[in-house]
Amino acid sequence: MTGTLVLVATPIGNLGDLAPRAVEELAGAALICCEDTRRTGRLLAHAGVQGARLRRVDDHTEARAATEVIELLAGGARVALVSDAGTPGVSDPGARLVDAVLEAGHNVSVVPGPVAAVAALVASGLPTDRFVFEGFLPRKGRERGARLSAIAAEPRTTVLYESPNRIGATLTALAEVCGGERRAVVAREITKLHEEFVRGSLVELAAWAASTPKGEIVLVVEGAAPAPEATDDDVVAALRIELDGGSSRRDAADSVASMLGVGRRRVYELALGIPGAVTPPS
Ligand code: SAM
Repeated sequence: MTGTLVLVATPIGNLGDLAPRAVEELAGAALICCEDTRRTGRLLAHAGVQGARLRRVDDHTEARAATEVIELLAGGARVALVSDAGTPGVSDPGARLVDAVLEAGHNVSVVPGPVAAVAALVASGLPTDRFVFEGFLPRKGRERGARLSAIAAEPRTTVLYESPNRIGATLTALAEVCGGERRAVVAREITKLHEEFVRGSLVELAAWAASTPKGEIVLVVEGAAPAPEATDDDVVAALRIELDGGSSRRDAADSVASMLGVGRRRVYELALGIPGAVTPPS
């Protein structure tokens, strides 16, 4: 028989955000996999779900839990997976269990709902048409530097999770690599009593964070501005370097057009105006 693992999103603060369909799935599940049985127990009590069977699944126990879950699914059961808050699998356990369940030939379904990253993004006021989710940055080392540089060059809006203790250091580091004027938004305690969206430049936000804000935080960073279009002077200067190096006008135009991201026709016409260069026979 084929069973179904259902990923059930839960509130990120406000219990009123628990969807009716989430309650139905939790009430009907043969087993609820969760990060913290006490925390999920409180959510179930709030939702009026009684007699549920809970199993703790975290980063260390995910592989072992998969065996038990797959045994239940083989009997045709529906098993629910929740995390402490928000959507399982988003900076939370879930991906390995999903992978194992699919590998064993069972179904995976979802009750969508709160995700802190998306809630912060849509309320940020920064472009939402294209965005990148970075999760938590590494705390130190080369990988942290590489990820910060990638964010600096990234044209899409970037969304990050960060702890209140580290938000100041991360904003300062981002101001250094992105330039202090880059716009950003700190979304704090979303859907909770002290919900706050602090908007400003990276330098302004780093100063704001110096007093160590409290609570849960999502950081949304504006994408890098597109590089300014090359002027005719830029194109001619690049062409001269190519031509002085012995390239034909045509080869120089091809290489400069792709290097500067400008139209080949415009580059070739500018190349024709440079005296002394060799025009190959066409
Ligand atoms: N699975 C969750 C989701 O769907 O958003 C994320 C879990 S991750 C372990 C926890 C992080 O999410 C927090 O450290 C914080 O960065 C962010 N977060 C969760 N709830 C939040 C809230 N109410 N306001 C702001 N950030 C929140």
